[in-house]
Amino acid sequence: MREKKYDYLIVGAGLFGATFAHLATKRGKRCLVIDKRSHVGGNVYCEEIEGINVHKYGAHIFHTSDRRIWDFVNSIVPFNRYTNSPLAKAPDGKLYNLPFNMNTFYQMWGVKTPAEAQAKLDEQRREAIKRMEDDGIKEPRNLEEQALILIGRDVYEQLIKGYTEKQWGRPCSELPAFIIRRLPVRMTFDNDYFNDSFQGIPIGGYNLLIDGLLKGVDVKLGTDFFNNCECWRSVADKIVFTGKIDEFYDYRFGKLEYRTVRFETEVLDEPNNQGNAVVNYTSPDVPYTRIIEHKHFEAFGNAVYDNPKTVISREYSSEWCDGMEPFYPVNDKKNQDLYSRYRALADMERNVIFGGRLAEYKYYDMAPIIARVFNYFD
Ligand code: UDP
Repeated sequence: MREKKYDYLIVGAGLFGATFAHLATKRGKRCLVIDKRSHVGGNVYCEEIEGINVHKYGAHIFHTSDRRIWDFVNSIVPFNRYTNSPLAKAPDGKLYNLPFNMNTFYQMWGVKTPAEAQAKLDEQRREAIKRMEDDGIKEPRNLEEQALILIGRDVYEQLIKGYTEKQWGRPCSELPAFIIRRLPVRMTFDNDYFNDSFQGIPIGGYNLLIDGLLKGVDVKLGTDFFNNCECWRSVADKIVFTGKIDEFYDYRFGKLEYRTVRFETEVLDEPNNQGNAVVNYTSPDVPYTRIIEHKHFEAFGNAVYDNPKTVISREYSSEWCDGMEPFYPVNDKKNQDLYSRYRALADMERNVIFGGRLAEYKYYDMAPIIARVFNYFD
C-alpha cells in the first residue's frame, strides 16, 4: 500500500488541534491541520483593533493548578500576571465583586467578618435545605436548588438567576447543577475568580501561543473537511477531529444543541471605560450578559492610559442554529443522551481521535484541553 503523506490530519486549528499538532510534530509525526475559518486559533483567536488584542470569540483567561501545563504554555510564550476579578452589575443597581466572597457579602448584607457572613449564609441556606428535606430530595436536582443551598436566596436572585437564564436561555430549574459549581464561594476578601495556582494571558496575545504551537506544521485555512471528506481521509493515517461530533456523523441521530454568543464590539474614544476587563450584567432587564473591555487583559494600572482608545464587546447569548458559531454545549439530559449515542459510534473508530469542546460536547476550559492532549501522548 502507498504510504500516506501525513500521520495525522487534524481537523480544526483551535487549542486542541494546535496542541496535538505541536506534540505530534515533536515526536517526529507529520501533521496537516485544516480549518474552515480564515485564521488559526479557533475561539482563542484575537483580532488587533487600535493596538488592542480583542478576544473575538469571547474572553479567554488561562488558569491551571497543573505546573506541567503552566510550564508548557509558558515555554511557547510567556504569560502575564492578569488575575480575573469580574464585577457584577445587579438588578438592585449595585456593583458587586465576584466570585462570591467576603467583599460580595459585605456589599450585599453589610457583614464585615467571616462569622457574620457565615451566620447570614447559614440562615439563607437553611431555608433551601429544609425545603429539599421536606420534599425528600437528597441531592440538588438542578442549578436553582444547587445555588440556593450553596449561597442562599439573596445572592441567587441578585447575581445568579438573571445572568444564568440569559446565558443559557433556560430556567435555572431546568439546568444542570454542575454549571454553578464552577464558581467558588469564599469566606475571605479574595476577588480572584479562580482557585488555581497559575493564571494569565500570553504576553502579546493568544495568537502568539497558537502560532508557536503550529510552528513547522502544515496548515490549510479556509478548508472545510466536510466539503471533501473522502479526499481528506485519504491524506493521513489518522484523523484528529475537533469539530462537531454530530456533524461528523451527518446528524444521523439528530442535532445537538449549543448556545452561541453574539458580540457587539465598539471602539471608544476614551482610555478607560469600565475600569475592569469583565463586568457581568445579572439583571434580566439588560439584554447582554457582560461587557468585556479587552485592554485590561494586557495593560495594568496606569498603563491602561497609554492608549487613548479602548475596545469593548457586549455579549448577547442566544440559541445556536446553522451558520452561527457554536460556543457552549447544552449539557442537559436530552442533549447528553443524544451525545452518548454519537459517542458510542466514536468509541468504535480505530483511526479517528475526537477532542475538544465540540467533538466531546463538553464545557471545557483551556488547561483541561491541553491536559487531554498530554494524556493522549502519555
Ligand atoms: N454565573 C452567574 N453569575 C455571574 C457569573 C456566572 O450566575 O455573574 C454562573 C452562570 O450560571 C454561568 C456559570 O456561573 O453559566 C459559569 O460562569 P463562568 O464565568 O465560569 O462561564 P464562562 O466564563 O465559561 O462563560
